[in-house]
Amino acid sequence: MPFQDLRSWLEHQRSTGRLVRHHIADNLHYEVATVLSRENGNRAIEFTYRDQVLVGNTFGSRTELAESLGLHGAQALHERYRMAIAHPQKPEAVDPQGAPVLSVRQPEVDLNRLPIPKHHEKDSGPYITAAIAIARDPETGVHNWSIHRLQVSGPNRLGALILPRHLSVMVRKAETHGQDLPIALVIGLAPGLLLASQAITPYGVDEADIAGGLLGVPVRLVQSPKYGIMVPADAEFLLEGRVLAQVREPEGPFGEFPRTYGPRSAKPVVAVDALYHQSSPIYQTILPAGREHVLLGAIPREVAIANAISQVSSNIQDVVLTFAGGCRYHAVISMQPHYPGESKNVVMAAFAGVNEVKRVVVVDPDINIEEPEDVEWALATRVQPDRDLVVVSGALGSALDPSASSNGVTSKWGIDATIPLSDDRERYERIALPSRPANRH
Ligand code: MN
Repeated sequence: MPFQDLRSWLEHQRSTGRLVRHHIADNLHYEVATVLSRENGNRAIEFTYRDQVLVGNTFGSRTELAESLGLHGAQALHERYRMAIAHPQKPEAVDPQGAPVLSVRQPEVDLNRLPIPKHHEKDSGPYITAAIAIARDPETGVHNWSIHRLQVSGPNRLGALILPRHLSVMVRKAETHGQDLPIALVIGLAPGLLLASQAITPYGVDEADIAGGLLGVPVRLVQSPKYGIMVPADAEFLLEGRVLAQVREPEGPFGEFPRTYGPRSAKPVVAVDALYHQSSPIYQTILPAGREHVLLGAIPREVAIANAISQVSSNIQDVVLTFAGGCRYHAVISMQPHYPGESKNVVMAAFAGVNEVKRVVVVDPDINIEEPEDVEWALATRVQPDRDLVVVSGALGSALDPSASSNGVTSKWGIDATIPLSDDRERYERIALPSRPANRH
């Protein structure tokens, strides 16, 4: 069964023993992140703080993300993601009376009353980290979903990092007409909706349709009261506001997915004009660099890499982006090469498939690519660097990689850790214990 809203998913997590409660008696800041970090990849946490509830770590693995869509395992998740891109499903519009997110309208906007935590030590302040930003193209009216770090800069003011992707196109279009861009921020969502917001698509594809494809049912949307943006009706919170034309204010530093700080600089500003929520709303935060954060980016990228390498080889088994590489920089691919040099072509295709990929390791199918120790064992026993290493200089990588130049230019490396086809495979055989223990004497 696919979970369409946060509440039903949390109930499921609770009923399977994967959600625990934690009361915050004193200070919201850092304590939320400390507990989430301790339980990273393990359990979901429901925090109680004064009369409020906030949650984090709502999923911690590919398996749980798959489960939220009613699927079993990472391969099924990849397959469903592919299907959702190929066969998006239009949303269903519901009346405002039938939209839980519009149950309560706050008479005035004061972000300081929301339980928005400060996460890492040098963060410039509290940050909203789990909001899907939804905006409309000023010319075509098509909607876009994306997630941005949002610094609380004042009671109704946010600083936003808007990288050069789809939302930035809309901001630029509005600014050329001297206009603010209306924007909706929705918080408190089922994993499937968060995943949809991270889809890699051409400009003009509405991620609400991708969400429908992922869940296998149309997403329930409602028109936001002030700006008429279509937003998930079952979200916990809705903030309506505007990205202010030509306004830039200091934002950052902020602890990011590579587990380094993104620097402070002048960034776009969102003025928040209206605040709605469910009754007894559940505020959601995503721990920066935590499993939730990196997995949301991993799935679309793993599929993009798999698609790119399938152009050069039909012998691919699986692709994974590693947690230590923030599920962006380091890819591991398992395959059974049939031709000399095939695995090096796979390396180059993977570089081309996703810009942020910086290192690719290709291993044989007997290596468990989700186990870093097993991959390192392959590097230790199957690699001759002067033969198996590929280095490419001056390629486009990630601007958040501190070792890259400021515009994200980096060198990339690939390692063919497969056993050479011409070698005697027996030399590489992994030691094993007999499958039936010998009789004890
Ligand atoms: Mn988009």
